[in-house]
Amino acid sequence: RGEVLRGYAASPGIAVGPSRRFHTPALDVPEGEGKEPAIELAALGSALRETADAIAGQRDGVAARAGEHEASIFDAHLLFLRDEALLGPARAAIGDDGLTAARAWRDAVDEMAATWASLEDEYMQARAVDLRSVGDQVLARIIDAPVPAPRLEAPGILVAADLTPADTAGLDPEMVRGIATAHGGPTSHAAVLARALGIPAVVGIGSRLLELAEGSMTAIDGEAGEVRIDPPADVVAGLEDEARAREERLATLRDRATEPAVTLDGVAVEVAANVGGPDEVEAAVGAGADGIGLFRTEFLFMDRAELPDEREQEAAYRAAAEALEGRPLLVRTLDAGADKPIAGLEQEPETNPFLGMRGIRLGLERPELLGAQLRALCRVAADHRLRIMFPMVATTDELAAARVALEEARAQVGDERAPGGGAEPVIEVGIMVEVPSAALMASTLAGDCDFFSIGTNDLTQYAMAADRGNEHVADLNDPLHPAVLRLIAITVEGAATRDRWVGVCGELAGDELAAPVLLGLGVRELSMAAPAIAAVKHAVRSTSLDDARALASSALACATAAEVRAMLASP
Ligand code: PEP
Ligand code: MG
Repeated sequence: RGEVLRGYAASPGIAVGPSRRFHTPALDVPEGEGKEPAIELAALGSALRETADAIAGQRDGVAARAGEHEASIFDAHLLFLRDEALLGPARAAIGDDGLTAARAWRDAVDEMAATWASLEDEYMQARAVDLRSVGDQVLARIIDAPVPAPRLEAPGILVAADLTPADTAGLDPEMVRGIATAHGGPTSHAAVLARALGIPAVVGIGSRLLELAEGSMTAIDGEAGEVRIDPPADVVAGLEDEARAREERLATLRDRATEPAVTLDGVAVEVAANVGGPDEVEAAVGAGADGIGLFRTEFLFMDRAELPDEREQEAAYRAAAEALEGRPLLVRTLDAGADKPIAGLEQEPETNPFLGMRGIRLGLERPELLGAQLRALCRVAADHRLRIMFPMVATTDELAAARVALEEARAQVGDERAPGGGAEPVIEVGIMVEVPSAALMASTLAGDCDFFSIGTNDLTQYAMAADRGNEHVADLNDPLHPAVLRLIAITVEGAATRDRWVGVCGELAGDELAAPVLLGLGVRELSMAAPAIAAVKHAVRSTSLDDARALASSALACATAAEVRAMLASP
């Protein structure tokens, strides 16, 4: 029934079409001596300027379509064009060795990219890919060849080893019906942008994908994380029907998306959106979000040389709050480290970054960073409904220390206010429950905070000891494993002893099949990628709490994730 390749679900939807590789014209650098160094240097200079202009233009286009924070990735590309570590050797090769601008530039890029690519660090390897793509753009201009804009020559499914942000930003959704990549995780820039552009995508499929002949009939299911190669005609017809039916169903569900989600027996559930920046809030509200249940602030800090200062952060959080028009805004303090590297934040290399200095650990180690963020948030809280959440909390001491930092920030901001200038803002304070120790200690942690939001992405990887970005252990990494569900149950029970509410903001929250189980376990807030809201609200409205509780206790009694899934598929 055709070969099936599995990867990571990166952007939902079904797409069927011939596989297409990017066609990037190979650049032949002419042999021969350089002209006078001054002429070659001028050629290099103007190619650099033209490339910078082109990237800046692309940046603005992405900012308009997908938002400012997604566009900031191009700022990092612009920095390459000013990097002395690259320009110095290129100029020296022209001036001292008499090379042409083209050869000097190509050699300098090759050397730096090869060094980065040889490092263990995945982030630097990805930077090497970006550098080569920017380097090619400059080279093309020097030799007056067409700039190798990666493109599809005909509509189909884009198949690639990996995609740089520039590749993805230039994608024409008319041509690219779907995306399949051999490498990269579901949190890569490519995946994030694919979601923003609404193109179904599966990533991290493995190198078998790259052996496919151009034009192989390919069907991708961005929800299942599956790619079918050469499926028989009846399977294709079936998938096409499925895609149509999916779209029709979603269109119907979207009609009621902005109404509240209340179970059959009258329990209101907050269904919120996860966002990476303020510019996504309006669309989230349009998609039915009752609020923002996770503002991942990392995106404000990523791919830029200088970190955002207090005022810039305040403006971003304030813009998000304003767009919500009174709905709650839950902001997570910076969750840097491991799979969320921040270029502008120097960190020592670690052998196990996932078990290292990340999340609140990093925040407490750099009080000036956490303090600035908390002060920005306290200022916004004076005027808006705000929830603050700390990531990766593992111990009561961490929570206590984070609360001290918050109180300090609150006092500093309070001192700025004129005497009698309004009441102390009310801020709900919570933690992510994504480290198993926090789940197990929930009843104690609940004594020192107002809510929990369960991060099933990390909670699953730590409970199952399975890297969420490693395709070889993807089967272990199932948030519906009874072990994870039991941790959720313990968290909710712990919270209940203090009357605290519990939400889920990991990917599981956006899974409509999982919604009744989560409600049955006692979860009362679900936060997800905005396009999932309509279907999850529908799932809530179709459930009674009694049925949900029965389903949850059956799920807890299962032995495997497969058993849980089988039960949910045919209750
Ligand atoms: C999680 O871990 O489930 C979560 C929501 O946080 P992130 O995906 O940003 O790590
Ligand atoms: Mg997490």
